[in-house]
Amino acid sequence: MSNAIAAIRDAIVNNAPAEEFASLEIPTTARGAMVRAEDQEMFGDLADDDRDPRQAVKVDEFPLPELAPDEAYVAVMASSINFNTVWTSIFRPVSTFSFLNRLGKESYWGKRHDLPYHVIGSDASGVVLRVGNAVRNWKPGDRVTVQCNHVDDQDPTAHDDSMFASNQRIWGFETNFGGLAEVSVVKANQLMPKPEHLSWEESAVNGLCNSTSYRMIVSKNGSGMQQGDSVLVWGATGGIGAYAVQYVQNGGGTPVGVVSSEKRAELLRALGCDAVIDRRAEGYNFWKNEHEQDPKEWLRLGKKIRSLIGRDVDVVFEHPGRSTMGASVFVAKRGGLIITCAATSGYMLEFDNRYLWMNLKTLKGCHFANYREAWEANRLIGEGKVHPTMSKVFTLDQTGEAAYNVHKNMSEGKLGVLCLSPEEGLGVRNEALREQHIDKITLFRRYDAMS
Ligand code: NAP
Repeated sequence: MSNAIAAIRDAIVNNAPAEEFASLEIPTTARGAMVRAEDQEMFGDLADDDRDPRQAVKVDEFPLPELAPDEAYVAVMASSINFNTVWTSIFRPVSTFSFLNRLGKESYWGKRHDLPYHVIGSDASGVVLRVGNAVRNWKPGDRVTVQCNHVDDQDPTAHDDSMFASNQRIWGFETNFGGLAEVSVVKANQLMPKPEHLSWEESAVNGLCNSTSYRMIVSKNGSGMQQGDSVLVWGATGGIGAYAVQYVQNGGGTPVGVVSSEKRAELLRALGCDAVIDRRAEGYNFWKNEHEQDPKEWLRLGKKIRSLIGRDVDVVFEHPGRSTMGASVFVAKRGGLIITCAATSGYMLEFDNRYLWMNLKTLKGCHFANYREAWEANRLIGEGKVHPTMSKVFTLDQTGEAAYNVHKNMSEGKLGVLCLSPEEGLGVRNEALREQHIDKITLFRRYDAMS
């Protein structure tokens, strides 16, 4: 760690007054987790499942780029692993260097991103070190979390819903200088206030997954779930699923959560979800073979849902993709909605369209969240109405190991990564609010410790 970085870390840990941060030296380099262009072909013809993020992710020093007028340097105390970290580190379905290359062609500032290394990570909590001269709402010393919607707001297509912007990107996935580093570069319109009852790592894990689930469940841009609606949530103790369950509960709905082990079923019940389906124990086999699905298995899932809640679900929160989409389209109620943001198990999907059109169902795509949605989702975390789902914490040097954990579906909820924070548990300022919700804040961590 350089002297400049050590001084920044000490100032944060020792709660230096905000004014001091403006005079701290900006380091010329920082350490970060990255993949390298020269490694893009390292996995040859290996299947996605057999590609190991531990081989591709390196932690190394990189030069900090010049700051654009609408950007900020953020000293990153903690970050987290998202599934996009897995996609980047296995170079699938495409190498993310193709994104950086395209961004590099857009503008003078875009060119900075097109490098032979990609500093990854789409979440961060930390402290603002410097802001560009066009930044109005943030200043050095502000304690922040970062949301990953990277949009040029001078583009007319970014107004209305910025997720429709023609140059919308996910920071740290489709841009360089992501959050898994000691210092990160973000646009000012990615910054949000840090929830002060949470530690740095508890604050860092929410941005990407919590905002995605907010849009999918709560926002009118997603399902716009109503009181009394029931929602089938695949992967209900996973990264996005565990926030989705909380939003369904908060909105007066009934979550039906699907998981794949007794431990996860217990955790889901502890989260307050009573309708639980253990897909392993039930032995669902939606695909008879590589090419053919089994509608009898869809029917069996539908019956299971009716046995738990007495009716079909209004909404299906879909993301596993190829393995489950046939079943998801089948089990949604007549007139129901299947909302999807991903396809972890494969993106060439197949479903029986007769169930969609004859029963007037809707299949809707959804992707991350606009700044307003991310802000509202962060506010709910800050008010203690939605809670982080962090189950494990890794160091920056262990980023590859952490990504491997997510790739292999080995952990629940979210995995935190300490970047500048020397230990867990630092950064809490609102002890009273923390105390009020401590059981929920630490739920996933306690379950992980028990296993
Ligand atoms: P995660 O933490 O790995 O959780 C995914 C969950 O899905 C797992 O806990 C697992 O639960 C379940 N699952 C995995 N494979 C499955 C299968 N074949 N059938 C049924 N369930 C399966 O990942 P995540 O962070 O929730 O992300 C999930 C997906 O959403 C990823 O593909 C990610 O890239 C994508 N995503 C997209 C956006 C967006 O903005 N578009 C945002 C966030 C995430 P059980 O094994 O317990 O059932």
